[in-house]
Amino acid sequence: MPLSVSFFGAAGTVTESRYLIEDGDSRILVDCWLFQGHKELRTRNWVAFPVPPSTIDTVLLTHAHIDHSGYLPALVRDGFAGRIYCSHASMELCDILLRDSAFLQEKDAAYANRHGLSKHSPAKPLYTVQDAEAALECFTAVPFRKRTVLGSGLAVTLRHSGHILGAATVDLEWNGTRVVFSGDLGRFDDEVMLDPETIAGAEYLVVGFTYGDRRHDRGSPEDALAEVINSTTARGGTVVIPAFAVGRVQTLLYHLERAIAAGKLRPVPVLLDSPMAINASELLCTHPDDHRLPRDACVRACDIAQYVRDVEESKALTHNPMPKVIISASGMATGGRVLHHLKRAAPERRNSILFAGFQAAGTRGAAMVAGAESIRIHGEDVPVRAEVHNLSMLSAHAHADEILKWLGGFAAPPRETFICHGEASASQGSRIDSDPGWNCRAPLHLEKVVLR
Ligand SMILES: [Zn+2]
Repeated sequence: MPLSVSFFGAAGTVTESRYLIEDGDSRILVDCWLFQGHKELRTRNWVAFPVPPSTIDTVLLTHAHIDHSGYLPALVRDGFAGRIYCSHASMELCDILLRDSAFLQEKDAAYANRHGLSKHSPAKPLYTVQDAEAALECFTAVPFRKRTVLGSGLAVTLRHSGHILGAATVDLEWNGTRVVFSGDLGRFDDEVMLDPETIAGAEYLVVGFTYGDRRHDRGSPEDALAEVINSTTARGGTVVIPAFAVGRVQTLLYHLERAIAAGKLRPVPVLLDSPMAINASELLCTHPDDHRLPRDACVRACDIAQYVRDVEESKALTHNPMPKVIISASGMATGGRVLHHLKRAAPERRNSILFAGFQAAGTRGAAMVAGAESIRIHGEDVPVRAEVHNLSMLSAHAHADEILKWLGGFAAPPRETFICHGEASASQGSRIDSDPGWNCRAPLHLEKVVLR
């Protein structure tokens, strides 16, 4: 039976990943996105899954980010009855992220119904908290760096990919063919996360190229944070940092603690307003083998922030004029509590808004970084007069040179390499294509490629 891989919506946009490998009548799904970003893309979440979920035998997950895991509750509700394999930390992060995602879907549907905002009556959530809980029952953790047999003719090896806690490359051996999925690769020499581990070989490689043609600022994150925060608080302003609850928040806390300890940053109240980020930060201390921080550094980083769990407390914080740093999700300002803080902070010149990494096209984050004079939040046009910065050195995604460095670990080029997950400009600009030894292609959305 031919072995094939299908690309369900990983081409042409950055924020999602979903691949189906088929061999005869068996099917394995690698990652299971939820679309984020523009409305046009989000409507893809409602399109029926390209194959009946009941026909999928196994799911392998590279990491917990919603753009890789967020559709799983719908998949399980709609008939998937197999196991979902990932690293231990990814499993614990999914427990936080999928519940939160379901909660937000339910909240959005309820809001749409209250305000008559949906064409559908009543508006339904894409999935519920109960669906997320059913999906979480299907998870099984797989250790890092150990070839684990999952079924007849099927084995998987997870290796650290850096990026976020628990993130892995998936090295799949199926009936004698080896296919590697890079997932999201992190940075080399990151102070918090481990380097992406190199892989000696594969017959087929699916590599994510989020930052294919970009480089990140090489400056010190501590100097950059200190500069923006010191100058903002000196003029009585507040710094709002929209940050991805899992990954960026923990790195930010670490650098803020270091900047204060080094005397670069004047002590300032740091408020972490995201219950999800608080829980994810605590996981950093319970998975010491998955990152570089010694336990005391982990505890110090977590201790720097005052935690805000309660909604009323969060609202009071929005209106408190004291100079401060507020870290809140989501990282691209697509939703979450950070919107309330932005609504309040953006119109005033004394404040600053500090993004911490990649902003996908169509998000409020991308608009603000590009200099938008106003943004729309909860149906209102909010003027942006605050200073806006993007500290790209805090990105959790490898840039072009780092991806090439990781690819350099292969003893021989794979038979075929699929470049996915970049915005159109990133795929076009990627440079492995020009290396004569590498046979590359950028698959299209829904394309199915026969491997052997
Ligand atoms: Zn990710």
